[in-house]
Amino acid sequence: MRMIWNFLTDITGFLSEDKVLDNDDLIYNLSQLTSSLQTFVEVRFERDIRGAFWFIYRTVGGHSSYSEDTDGIQIMTIHQSKGLEFPVVIVPSLKKDNFPMKFIDPNPKSGWIFGSPTYYTPDDCLIYPKFDEEFGEELSHEMEEERIIYVAMTRAEDTLILSSIVDDCEPAKHSALKSGEFTKLPKGPERIQSAINENLENDCVLIDPNNIDIQTLARKTEENDDSYCIDLSFTALENYNNCPFRYKLANQIGFSISEKQEIDEGIFVHKALEIINKEIINNNNAFIGEDKVVEIITDLFEKSNEELHEEDPAEYNKQLNEVTGNVIYYYKNYGNDLKILDSEYPFYLKDKNYALKGVVDLIYEVDGKLGIIDYKNTRLEAKYKDKFKKQLHLYVLALRDQNQEYEGKEISNLQVYTIKSKKMIDFDIDEEYIEELKLELERVAEDIHEGKFTSCSCDDCKYCQYKNICNSQKEI
Ligand code: SF4
Repeated sequence: MRMIWNFLTDITGFLSEDKVLDNDDLIYNLSQLTSSLQTFVEVRFERDIRGAFWFIYRTVGGHSSYSEDTDGIQIMTIHQSKGLEFPVVIVPSLKKDNFPMKFIDPNPKSGWIFGSPTYYTPDDCLIYPKFDEEFGEELSHEMEEERIIYVAMTRAEDTLILSSIVDDCEPAKHSALKSGEFTKLPKGPERIQSAINENLENDCVLIDPNNIDIQTLARKTEENDDSYCIDLSFTALENYNNCPFRYKLANQIGFSISEKQEIDEGIFVHKALEIINKEIINNNNAFIGEDKVVEIITDLFEKSNEELHEEDPAEYNKQLNEVTGNVIYYYKNYGNDLKILDSEYPFYLKDKNYALKGVVDLIYEVDGKLGIIDYKNTRLEAKYKDKFKKQLHLYVLALRDQNQEYEGKEISNLQVYTIKSKKMIDFDIDEEYIEELKLELERVAEDIHEGKFTSCSCDDCKYCQYKNICNSQKEI
């Protein structure tokens, strides 16, 4: 994809464009091209420039360019609409597990390797210690849907139009809005009408698509506006600190021209550790035995390497043995000494202007002391140590807020396990550093909110996926 993108930017003259950094219209239009190109790369095995052009022409060729100043309809994702308001907002096709979000089973045994499952629930009033036990994955997913739909609804200044697809054949699968709650509806439009009447009193009307009379409803929400809250994670924070402009492209606009992530040995080891840790918890914290470990890894590896298995069995077996050896090494040298309390523990910390999200790989207990481990698909290198320290301290900060540490017990040990060099690194908890991180999160969230997206012109530019369209890089 990168090659096709470079070619396109070259021949279309974007490389000579001087205004990319401060021209939002151009950025949004380019991001549409990249998302079309991304789809092309995903659906076409044979990728050629002519095919890419044809695909872009067929998918976005008929669309007008985005321009903020023009009167008209702007189509965007809910994420892109954060912080914006419009006189009329239409949220179409509301359907459970379809829009605003699709439920993805986060159980790695489902064969799903990449991406992040949606566990998080941001509402202040929803205090819960554990997603898995108290609510279950599906309910957590529904809560996240509520939050997203809330952001979409509060973009409307005057009129909010919600539309739902109703299929009487599968009544239980449809949803509607009920006082901020995404509710399952047993039947069609009449039921939507009654839910609206019942819960939103006189502010709502059911619109007949054949006879639309837009009378403004003037229902503007400013207090407790979730869109004021900037979603941050360790990665997003680092992205912003490294280059605010790159953060804007990658995290705010979703402008992506990177290659698909390669599934390498480290990713399998990481995934295998996740599955095995959960199995150990289910086995009353007793190791499940090497045979079972081999069975789990073989199953996981086979699902993603069918082609290699057929084409090069020797290479397949070599890689499989390396992954298996690496995982067994971890348990023999480190993992079997730990009492696992939680694996893949999601956290959500909401403060006044940011929400910090993430997942802790492992929470354990040894000699009555609690610790956390983050597995890193990397080698142990001095240059990463500061990043590791920062990530672990952000976890402590979030766990303290969410759960008074972990179920009332203090976290004392912080560790990173580097999968490629098979090393465990210990970090001391630095209280002053945690206070500094709080201030950093607030500052970054404020800067993002104020739209400060300057470019960095740093060494990273050489490797940046946006260097072809970024003026800053051209000036270096
Ligand atoms: S090329 Fe450099 S300045 Fe431009 S987005 Fe990338 S990192 Fe930022």
